[in-house]
Amino acid sequence: MFDFSQKVVVITGGTRGIGLETVKAFKKAGATVILFGSKKSSVDTAITNLKNEGLEVEGYFPNLSDFNEVNETIEDIVSKHGHIDILINNAGISARNSIENTTAEEFVNIMSLNVNALFFTSKAVVPYMKKNNGGVILNTSSMVSIYGQPSGVGYPTSKFAVNGFTKSLARELAPFNIRVNAVAPGITKTDMVASLPKEMIDPLIKTIPLGRIGEVEDIANAFLFLASDMASYITGEILSVDGCARS
Ligand code: NAD
Repeated sequence: MFDFSQKVVVITGGTRGIGLETVKAFKKAGATVILFGSKKSSVDTAITNLKNEGLEVEGYFPNLSDFNEVNETIEDIVSKHGHIDILINNAGISARNSIENTTAEEFVNIMSLNVNALFFTSKAVVPYMKKNNGGVILNTSSMVSIYGQPSGVGYPTSKFAVNGFTKSLARELAPFNIRVNAVAPGITKTDMVASLPKEMIDPLIKTIPLGRIGEVEDIANAFLFLASDMASYITGEILSVDGCARS
């Protein structure tokens, strides 16, 4: 349905879960795909597994909390491929503890990966997108960016910031033909969720009008759409992909 054959796509957090499925989706749509992961071993494993499925991708593992490392990696990619057309800021960590049981360091780490890293990757990529007369930046937000959650305050805090970053950067970059949007998944069946017992999942499903939890493909499809020319007049949007879950 989508053709990204002339496009170079960088996807952070691409070694598993939503990011890995998004890597597959863009690769199957013809893109040159570069995935980022947190460490060499997980990047190597993802690349090998993808190769076994007939999907050739490249991988890097810059420290996303270090602007210089991120910037050097982006420079390497541009010198190899000439341009970056689509950046998907997907890497993220969550939190569940009460405020008393959350250390200052844990809070800072969440903000560092879920928020600061978006600034670093985007800051590194934007000059090349401007030079190329356009581009797309997509961020992974969450349904908790709208409603908060009853514990683990750092996670929704970071995702509210993702939405603010998305809406503001969209306005700044629109004159340069760079669109910025976010996808806000509801609960999605990654490895962690898939391993939860039925007794925990069933009550959750009852709260979702569409009657199921999200599949990673649902989120990857939203990224494909928002990155495509079919979304050429959409920027600054936070697209909920959550089966209409509203709590
Ligand atoms: P996951 O844990 O399966 O994957 C997370 C990815 O982020 C991995 O590729 C990992 O390598 C990368 N990552 C983690 N820590 C990192 C670090 N310090 N440096 C660099 N990379 C790091 O998670 P997922 O469920 O696929 O989540 C992906 C995104 O979707 C996250 O931003 C998450 O907040 C968001 N999200 C997930 C759900 C859900 O139900 N799964 C719901 C809403 C939003």
